[in-house]
Amino acid sequence: MKSTKPRVVVVGAGFGGLRVARALRDGSVDVTIVDQHNYHTFIPLLYQVATAGLEPEAIAQPVRRIVRANNVRFRLARVTGVDVARRRVLTDDGEIEYDYVVLAAGSVTNYFGLDSAADSSSALRGLDDAEALRSRILKAFEAAANEPDASRRTELMTTVVVGGGPTGIEIAGALSELRKHVLPHDFPGIDTSHARVVLLEAAGHLLGGMHRSMQRRALSDLEKMGVDVRLNAKVADADRSGVTLVSGERIPAGTVIWVAGVRAPSLVESMPAAKGSLGRICVTESLHLPDDDRVYVIGDSAHVGGPSSLPHPMLAPVAIQQGELAAGNILRHIACMELERFKYRDRGTMVTIGRSRAVARIYGLRFSGFLAWIIWLTVHLVWLIGFRNRALVLVNWAWNYLTYDRGVLLIRDRR
Ligand SMILES: Cc1cc2nc3c(=O)[nH]c(=O)nc-3n(C[C@H](O)[C@H](O)[C@H](O)COP(=O)(O)OP(=O)(O)OC[C@H]3O[C@@H](n4cnc5c(N)ncnc54)[C@H](O)[C@@H]3O)c2cc1C
Repeated sequence: MKSTKPRVVVVGAGFGGLRVARALRDGSVDVTIVDQHNYHTFIPLLYQVATAGLEPEAIAQPVRRIVRANNVRFRLARVTGVDVARRRVLTDDGEIEYDYVVLAAGSVTNYFGLDSAADSSSALRGLDDAEALRSRILKAFEAAANEPDASRRTELMTTVVVGGGPTGIEIAGALSELRKHVLPHDFPGIDTSHARVVLLEAAGHLLGGMHRSMQRRALSDLEKMGVDVRLNAKVADADRSGVTLVSGERIPAGTVIWVAGVRAPSLVESMPAAKGSLGRICVTESLHLPDDDRVYVIGDSAHVGGPSSLPHPMLAPVAIQQGELAAGNILRHIACMELERFKYRDRGTMVTIGRSRAVARIYGLRFSGFLAWIIWLTVHLVWLIGFRNRALVLVNWAWNYLTYDRGVLLIRDRR
């Protein structure tokens, strides 16, 4: 018999979408969660996959396993649009009717209009990106091992990271450790001390938006680790063999990693709704479109309050808390109750810089060094979904810490 319960379609099984589906598991509505992948990715640890510290399987979990419930279905499809007039989600595998839709499609890499960077550099937004980046870094070293010219060898062993935010810092730190502790053993035929990690940041400081003491600590830790940090270094152009700065300086490199920012994906851009910062959709404080209280937008895709309000940071806790509220507001709407407004509870931020090095702000208290690193490890381990993933990550971390080794030095794509 066909169900008569209200149908909620959730687009995206990321941090926000999963929280909506989980919060609606009580059975009063029928939920369909749609994603282009059949797995949820734990994005904060992507950089560890890219730097051979973790297998991709350790940070991904099948969506069906996470949302197991009688009233929740998963659909593997790429969403191409939402027809709000006909209340249908459009996908590459047909249409899905809804009574309520929650758009939680996340964000994509922002190249700030620099097509050359989009074509030539490596991004880090999904599991495929992380695996491709790992291959690219290792292939550059393989090429260096066969390169007779010393200066060309140094160029191939140079990695440029564009963007001094949390991801840029985490990846630069991890690459510096890879260069120091792992690659010398695996490439005994080349002098890997010439391998360079260059971190470029357009602003005059790292970690924009964080406390000055955290910015300074991150800078000094990276420099101690041998990372060549360049502040006020804006990239004008990038290609397969390096980057050119606005100042005219050319930095040749075997690998260029672009982690300078994110923006709304094309699905979000295509929605007939007002856009705010970085192309995110403007929603009310109750998280639905101003003129349609059956269309919710959350997480990286949403700009709460519209252009006149300061956008929330694109962070997992924001998406999770918005997912919780959107689910609650759908149930309140069905029950003809007043909707609640979103208020972000900021518990803090943390960034790991390398082995035993991190900076953290938790409930207003600031930590750095070994203590911050232990807090970072614990929080990320607890936060990961699934016992199997936690066990895999813990074993890998313990192995990496004790042996200074990385187990996943595989080139999976020979292109
Ligand atoms: C490298 C990196 C590291 C980060 N580290 C941290 C961190 O340490 N801490 C932190 O708080 N935040 C971190 N963030 C930010 C955090 O990952 C995002 O803020 C968060 O994932 C946003 O959640 P979301 O639900 O909006 O989107 P996401 O979690 O990105 O989920 C979006 C989902 O939508 C799916 N999707 C997108 N388009 C379509 C489509 N057309 N059809 C079908 N499915 C689609 C995607 O496959 C994905 O599963 C990091 C981000 C990056 C890129």
